[in-house]
Amino acid sequence: MILDGATIITMDSGRRIFARGALVVRGDRIVAVGPADEILSAHPDEERVDFSGRLIIPGLIDTHVHQAQAMIRDCADDMALVQWLCERVWVLQGSYDHEDGVVSARLCIAEMLKSGTTTFLESGLAHRYGFEGVAQVVADTGIRACLSKKVMDIATYASEDNAMPLGLRETREESLLTTLDMFDRWNGAADGRIRVGFGPRTPGGVSPQLYREMVSEARARGMGITMHLAEVEADRQFLRQTYQMSPVEFARSVGLVGPDVVLVHMVWLDDQDIAILAETGTSVSHNPSSNSKLASGVCPVPRLLAAGVNVALGCDGGPSNNTYDLLAEMKLAALVHKAVSLDPTVVPAESVLEMATINGARALRWDHEIGSLEVGKKADIVVVNRDRCGLSPGLNPVSALVYSATGADVDSVMVDGRWLVRHGELLTIDEEEAVAQARERARRLYAATGIDPSPRWPVL
Ligand SMILES: [Zn+2]
Repeated sequence: MILDGATIITMDSGRRIFARGALVVRGDRIVAVGPADEILSAHPDEERVDFSGRLIIPGLIDTHVHQAQAMIRDCADDMALVQWLCERVWVLQGSYDHEDGVVSARLCIAEMLKSGTTTFLESGLAHRYGFEGVAQVVADTGIRACLSKKVMDIATYASEDNAMPLGLRETREESLLTTLDMFDRWNGAADGRIRVGFGPRTPGGVSPQLYREMVSEARARGMGITMHLAEVEADRQFLRQTYQMSPVEFARSVGLVGPDVVLVHMVWLDDQDIAILAETGTSVSHNPSSNSKLASGVCPVPRLLAAGVNVALGCDGGPSNNTYDLLAEMKLAALVHKAVSLDPTVVPAESVLEMATINGARALRWDHEIGSLEVGKKADIVVVNRDRCGLSPGLNPVSALVYSATGADVDSVMVDGRWLVRHGELLTIDEEEAVAQARERARRLYAATGIDPSPRWPVL
């Protein structure tokens, strides 16, 4: 199949853009990409699909997703992290059953696919959402994912005052050993679209011994690890008081640095922290909407990029963002650092598009197969409608994508050579049913927990 006539932003090592390009897909792979004239004459017998007026980019990679939070996106506005967690998010999530996990995952994946995300890193599934049901949704919907399972042995966040509800507490055996079991069952499943890794809770929820044990199990199997770190100032203070270390010094002390580790948020860092990240090739997932909404602060992305740290992008969760639209996230990533530094040259559009594509692939150690449109790579492709008024004239397609586009501009999405979205319609998910189920399940959870998601104004 030839995807013909679109402007193609390849994100290859030369960052080439073909103004009128074409791309040939055979099976799950890209077999040719280049100027349309050349490709059409080299492949005269291939089926041709006309994408004139469209923009083709690599599938977007969201490196921080809580699938279980899609269904409770209405639960908490205008709150800081600890109150948000302890009074709302944990209370609701502590009441989930496995069907809630499945329904929320389907809603989340529907939104991601429709807005151009083809691969995501699940930050950590708790035991009670059910790993297998969620993995089956990933398999059935056709998206690509690294699914992490929570690991913990202490039921608090950063301090003993912030205790986790009973429903979310897990022992070493439940958390660590279940992850290994799920790795054996699901890693490499769905034609290699699923990978399984570790998503340990933050320091305070995991003993140093368990972190070390988990790291050695991960390294023995080549599993990836992702963890929230240095999200709020209290995280930094807790590590200083408890271990006399900075966040990244602590991570290094338990083995949680390296190219197989994605550390998330990373707002409260000093120069030494940044130097360790650069030396060890540790990736950072930047989540500007979540950090803004929860008033956590701003990740020092310009300093991370200047030090050579691989920075990728993430939407985080339903109640902290409140969307899983990575195109929308790209705009804030490009804006927020300019606002706080008073320097319009920091974090340009090109850097942001790298974060959402090739840097994300590198963070997942999947850049040999995804993250750019190159011969031999997987056919994970997003088609954006650049003819819409909000993107026009769009003579600089990189600027149009980062500063003007949202997920609503996505026309079609392919993962592993298979169309999952065509002309805005999901092909593997019944959207109406997914929405109705999520609404019904969410109402039940709010009723069971006594949390009221209504607006502050009278609803008549
Ligand atoms: Zn998160």
